[in-house]
Amino acid sequence: MECINHPGTPAAGSCQHCGKALCSSCVNRFVPPHCEPCLLAHNASVAQRLYIDLAVTVFIFLGVAALVAYHAEVNKSGGIVLGLMLAGAYWGWQFLNRIPTPIILTSGAGFIIYAGIKLMLAILAGFIIGPWEIFKRIKEINAIKTLKKEIETGKA
Ligand SMILES: [Zn+2]
Ligand SMILES: [Zn+2]
Repeated sequence: MECINHPGTPAAGSCQHCGKALCSSCVNRFVPPHCEPCLLAHNASVAQRLYIDLAVTVFIFLGVAALVAYHAEVNKSGGIVLGLMLAGAYWGWQFLNRIPTPIILTSGAGFIIYAGIKLMLAILAGFIIGPWEIFKRIKEINAIKTLKKEIETGKA
């Protein structure tokens, strides 16, 4: 077996995704080992998920803010606060999802109480977790973009 990038160089491993042969220097290029097309495709799908999360956040914020501004008689700017709260709660909720739900709370009245408490906790947690997660996502997207550019220009 020869490396797909370097004909004549013996294979030392393979792409984790498509299984194509890679030489020792190609194997060590990315962790876990990936050939270029697979790495780019994988990162593109990761970036897409990141973009969707950010888009949902903006959508919740603008949607809630617009809805409140449209309906409120007095406190029109209250929508911005509520929008920020609920956009943050989107992240807080995802964070809480990592904590397993006790079986007793998955149905019936227990579930309704649990969902209410979870929403309140999500709003509270969202104030800290929301900005942090959004910051992390933007950083990841930038890292993916940078790597793509480096691969295209032959630097990585
Ligand atoms: Zn591959
Ligand atoms: Zn190679």
